[in-house]
Amino acid sequence: MDIRPLKKQKVQTDSYQHTINREVLNFDFEKVCSVTLSHNNVYCCLVCGKYFQGRSISSPAYNHTINIDHHIFLNLKSQKFYILPENQEIDGIQDIKDLLDPKYTKDDVNNLPETALDLHKKSYYVGYTGLDNISNNDYENVIIQALSHIRPIRDFYLRLSYRDKLHDQIQRKSILNDRFGILIRKLWSIHLYRNHVSPHELLQYVSEVSKSQFSLTVQKSPKKFLIWLLNGLHSQLVKYTKSTVISESLQGALEITSFDGDGVQVKSTTTSKFWVITVDLPPAPLFVGETIQEVQLSSLLAKYNGETKVHISKDELRSYKLVEPLPPYLIIHIDRGLEKEDVKKGNPTVVQFQDVIDFAPFVTQEKPTPINYRLLSTIKHDSITGDEIDESDIKSEWSINVRKKVDDTWFTIKDSEVKPCQGELLFLDENYIQIWEKVE
Ligand SMILES: [Zn+2]
Repeated sequence: MDIRPLKKQKVQTDSYQHTINREVLNFDFEKVCSVTLSHNNVYCCLVCGKYFQGRSISSPAYNHTINIDHHIFLNLKSQKFYILPENQEIDGIQDIKDLLDPKYTKDDVNNLPETALDLHKKSYYVGYTGLDNISNNDYENVIIQALSHIRPIRDFYLRLSYRDKLHDQIQRKSILNDRFGILIRKLWSIHLYRNHVSPHELLQYVSEVSKSQFSLTVQKSPKKFLIWLLNGLHSQLVKYTKSTVISESLQGALEITSFDGDGVQVKSTTTSKFWVITVDLPPAPLFVGETIQEVQLSSLLAKYNGETKVHISKDELRSYKLVEPLPPYLIIHIDRGLEKEDVKKGNPTVVQFQDVIDFAPFVTQEKPTPINYRLLSTIKHDSITGDEIDESDIKSEWSINVRKKVDDTWFTIKDSEVKPCQGELLFLDENYIQIWEKVE
């Protein structure tokens, strides 16, 4: 606790402002004191960027100011600025507050500029911001990027930065939504010092709350992480809103008809909700050097035309059809057999796709009308061969291609690296999860 009364007299605060080193400021990490590891009452020293608990006499922040001669601090929770050891509160410094916690008005959300300037006055595309790979979290980064480019989801979390009842409830009750929201706001910030942010604060929490099912250090299936994250965000939001932006944007329903082993007798028909639909590939070539097959995504989607019967077991076949209305965004998982942790090399079948796909053939409709979707983003897998010749030295890498809607250009985001790419050549990649957006 801070027990010393605030000093009334004016200290020469201006004399410390020039000691701030913006190059080292980074508020993306867990707000933990570097000395006591406590989460309470943590300050950032704006000279060296380190976090210290403080600011009473003999606290780590106080000791830091006495021993190292650094004097200007920011309380990471209250967002107030102080001079130590004088214990004098000073006026907030706006660009630092914006870096810590970017805020958006409704107007800001609707009128985001296309570009902004970083600390070195270098231009960057707003929203096309890299995410650091701290250890092995590229499989999580691609999912965060994919969700951050779904407009209603993005807008919801940007608007949460303005305090209202919902924001307060979420901040207090759902750490997952709160930290996910802060990260989305940083990804779309126009106030960044550098064009990449660290997902550490969110992913550290994910690791704790999922009991290391999804950790920063061990690569897992991005699809499993996606479903875990959507369930987590949705189930906690639904306590405060009737329907959630997650389910409104992404959740669809599937009619499943189950047949006997001969595929003749109908055993049951059920409807089930989904976040993701999976399409299956023809078997991968058995031998190295065999030609890699090419298939059309629309022919893989025939699995959902209500006619195709899929073998589930010796005694069961199933047919599937999507139920109207389809969600505004459809997530398609192309099953390359990568769901097991030890599999680093996926089925390499090339999946061709058109820019726009009509989903009408896969939906139960009274009057058939086209339901067109356009590709918004696609997560791709790469198998990287190491120095060793044997298969154990193969590593998976994940990146995402995202369409910039303003001018229809494409960007590849691979962890902290963001660069333009050619939309026409995307089908050549080992596409693994795609998000399609309904064309209104
Ligand atoms: Zn310092």
